[in-house]
Amino acid sequence: RNDILISNRHESTAAAADTSNPPCEKFEYQAEVSRLMDLIVHSLYSNKEVFLRELVSNASDALDKLRFLSVTEPELLKDAVDLDIRIQTDKDNGIITITDTGIGMTRQELVDSLGTIAHSGTAKFLKALKESQEAGADSNLIGQFGVGFYSAFLVSDRVVVSTKSPKSDKQYVWEGESGASSYTIREEADPAKLLPRGTRLTLYLKHDDKGFAHPERIQKLVKNYSQFVSFPIYTWQEKG
Ligand code: ADP
Ligand code: MG
Repeated sequence: RNDILISNRHESTAAAADTSNPPCEKFEYQAEVSRLMDLIVHSLYSNKEVFLRELVSNASDALDKLRFLSVTEPELLKDAVDLDIRIQTDKDNGIITITDTGIGMTRQELVDSLGTIAHSGTAKFLKALKESQEAGADSNLIGQFGVGFYSAFLVSDRVVVSTKSPKSDKQYVWEGESGASSYTIREEADPAKLLPRGTRLTLYLKHDDKGFAHPERIQKLVKNYSQFVSFPIYTWQEKG
């Protein structure tokens, strides 16, 4: 993997000094994202469990996109893996991983998707939330809008997204922390973590939310919120 070690083209953080790892780049969130994350954490505090619905729906969207694009580009399916979603819980360490074999993201797609609010659902939510707050109303916005990826921070101190697009020969890792104004992107350096295709989210749960890392809890949420997802969803518990 020497080719990666020398490709330090960008401004880098301290991690780049460690030559055993590929360079790690730091990015600032678009200002609206920081505001949105703040709003999500404060307004959805008592509906934290929506994070799972949001992340499973993103996994399902990614699988849908792959299936749709593969009609005209069958080579996208060259890594013959099943189209599914796997949720693994590690209750001892308070970690949930959600893995899909969908379309994944290129490095640029990571920056565009998980650093901005280019996405209509989230932008609409932000607008409606502002309006309802101005009107002093306490409407049920969660049911009406998808609050999106950033809802992962409702329950997580740290979120790691490792993703492999069939359009890229490299796998990239996005990493963000709750309350931070920046995130990082690096190349996946651990061969054991390479995916054939798709995305793996690792949620390092907040101390008080570690209870979500129980398979029964996850199964119940999947049943309640994600019963119409048209791909298999497997859940299992990491053996301690
Ligand atoms: P929305 O789903 O409304 O577009 P989100 O905040 O949920 O907004 O997600 C933002 C974007 O991040 C998605 O549109 C998609 O491009 C990308 N994304 C999120 N999760 C995944 C995933 N598991 N696989 C591929 N892309 C993803
Ligand atoms: Mg979404």
